[in-house]
Amino acid sequence: MAEDRYDVLIIGAGPAGLTAGLYAARAGLKTAVVEKGTPGGQIATTDLVDNYPGFPDGILGPDLSQLMERHAVRFGAELIYDEVTGLKPREDGTWEVQMYGGPKVARTVIVASGAYERKLGVPGEEEFRGRGVSYCAICDGAFFKGGKVAVVGGGDSALTEGLYLTRVVEEVTIIHRRDELRAAHDLQQRAKANPKIRWIFSHVVERMEGDEKLRRLILRNTKDGSTKELDVDGVFIYIGMIPNTGFLEGVVERDAAGYILSTPDLKTSAPGIWVAGDARAGSLAQVSTAVGEGATAALEAEAYLGKWDAGQKPQWPRLEKAAV
Ligand code: NAP
Repeated sequence: MAEDRYDVLIIGAGPAGLTAGLYAARAGLKTAVVEKGTPGGQIATTDLVDNYPGFPDGILGPDLSQLMERHAVRFGAELIYDEVTGLKPREDGTWEVQMYGGPKVARTVIVASGAYERKLGVPGEEEFRGRGVSYCAICDGAFFKGGKVAVVGGGDSALTEGLYLTRVVEEVTIIHRRDELRAAHDLQQRAKANPKIRWIFSHVVERMEGDEKLRRLILRNTKDGSTKELDVDGVFIYIGMIPNTGFLEGVVERDAAGYILSTPDLKTSAPGIWVAGDARAGSLAQVSTAVGEGATAALEAEAYLGKWDAGQKPQWPRLEKAAV
């Protein structure tokens, strides 16, 4: 049986992966984008993307996801719904990309697998997941219509999603472990001006309690150690991300947190593999930077394949440990 062989195989159909797919397919390369969830990645579950150029009034994350997917597919990128579980180098310089539906062979690979939500790891979090505990306001906000919810975190995500929730619920309490927010200045201003948002600074969630559903959070003051209760119908956790790179253990160099190290032109430590977007160490985690990195990686892969086809052995630099 003929093997499934691609010029460029992209892992992840978020903004980085779909842009890489668009560029590679448009260059006439046989291209596949493998996605284990919904195309769009994190923006598929983001309410409003307000800082992506070309959309002066903002654009809904799911809408932008669909536009990016259509754009890549229009040029011939194939979307494969599967999960990549590992990569194995082959004698001929290609990669065997392992997935549940059977392996594919790729001459080049672009890792655009992004990152997923960090959990708090406190008692009750797992127990009440789906019964009051959520990591996605746009998916679950409507379940709390007219109710009181908390958002944990002080970064861009916590404030963006907290603002979204004010359109659905009666009251949003943002709980942050310090007394200074990490989020961008304009987001802070908008959130602070919103009358539905309350703030609890210098507190962490110690545990979550309830019965058949979540009822309250037990909060601990990070300054004096005292505790207090907050009655809520739901809690949304936005405390940062973990890179989706476990399947690359032993294949490419990663930093201590699991983000993939790369050269400035996005080469990883493994020949023929590039990285783009939030899984990359040093990523700015913006849609616009992910898109730029996806384009860069695809153009790099195209040049590499051009040399390969011309019979020249493509050079691959030794990745310095410090490079990000
Ligand atoms: P983030 O910027 O890493 O913020 C995480 C927040 O959670 C921080 O406030 C952090 O507190 C807090 N935190 C971390 N661990 C915690 C714990 N165990 N308990 C309580 N609080 C904890 O993550 P993010 O907001 O998800 O954003 C990730 C990246 O995506 C950022 O680069 C951001 O700029 C980008 N992003 C951009 C947009 C946009 O452009 N509109 C929207 C969303 C996200 P400390 O501040 O004390 O560390």
